[in-house]
Amino acid sequence: MSNTASKVYNFCAGPAQLPETVLQQAQQSIIDWQGTGTSILSIGHRTDAFMQMVAETEQDLRALMQMPDHYRVLFMQGGATSQFSALPLNLLHDKHYAEYIVTGHWGKKAVDLARQYGDIRVVAEGLDAAQNTQWPVSPDAAYVHCTPNETIDGVEFRQIEATHSKLVADLSSSILSQPIRVEDYAMIYAGAQKNIGPAGLCVVLIREDMIGQAAPHTPPLYNYETYAKQAIPNTPPTFAWYVCHLVFQWLKQQGGLSMIAERNTQKAQALYDFIDQSALYSNQVPVSCRSRMNVIFQLARPELEPIFLRDSKALGLVGLAGHRAVGGMRASLYNAMPLEGVQALIQFMQAFEEQYG
Ligand SMILES: *Cc1c(COP(=O)(O)O)cnc(C)c1O
Repeated sequence: MSNTASKVYNFCAGPAQLPETVLQQAQQSIIDWQGTGTSILSIGHRTDAFMQMVAETEQDLRALMQMPDHYRVLFMQGGATSQFSALPLNLLHDKHYAEYIVTGHWGKKAVDLARQYGDIRVVAEGLDAAQNTQWPVSPDAAYVHCTPNETIDGVEFRQIEATHSKLVADLSSSILSQPIRVEDYAMIYAGAQKNIGPAGLCVVLIREDMIGQAAPHTPPLYNYETYAKQAIPNTPPTFAWYVCHLVFQWLKQQGGLSMIAERNTQKAQALYDFIDQSALYSNQVPVSCRSRMNVIFQLARPELEPIFLRDSKALGLVGLAGHRAVGGMRASLYNAMPLEGVQALIQFMQAFEEQYG
């Protein structure tokens, strides 16, 4: 690296950048966790100290999201992708069909995996479904699945009040980025590695009446009832869990989700404003459903892409390549990305445009 002294900003879509103070605490905990003389990596998951940490983690998440008492918090593994299968196994078993809203790559994948287990109907699709959330859902659907922030396509929708009594949301890339009404959903799930912590955990928030309906052949570690009865049914990714704990504390110190939302809006707005006035960069997503978390953009001269990635990396701006499915560029601006990181990116993009545009 030519410029090792300068700060590195990581725009990777996941596993994503974590707050620096969290990394420092995590580093210390690897040598000596809470003065126990033992590494967090070697603390038993059934020890009092670990269980205490687990309880605090749940309390903090509940407080941050203002979660009502009749919702349960499950810490599962296998990422969001395993939830694509767990969902129909748990919620579709003796029902007729489930409905899906597909506004991008991950919603489509959720449909593909769910189809192995039952009748899956796509009732709204594409940018139209993101712009107009009055979807034609049926009260008879076992559940309605949506993806409020499509990480790869850079598409986000925000209005989803009282859509369906069994609305399920994959919030992997936007959970904790703004306050939401948990009561609007029967279930929310999120892989941890975007906006929560390191890879390895998937957080599931589920209304109590949705638990206990799984198909008989559901593997126990895919069954929500297992976790509702026993929070830790087998060895979990203990270190990842601890880092989530640190991130929730950090979020509280930042002033909670309203403050974080303000900052996130400011960061995304600055980047979109710059892109919109530029002749070299463009973003084709309608303004009303542009993602605040994942800003995708194209270069008018695609042959410049490798040079853009090389030069930005040399300045410590890394992880800017778009997902292989769509190409182009993507800057992920999760909670831990400071405004200064976005400003450094804009400055670079401006200088690059002056040189090559
Ligand atoms: C990243 C992502 C996934 C896939 O998550 P895994 O943890 O890799 O399974 C699914 N949905 C959304 C919205 C994502 O951003």
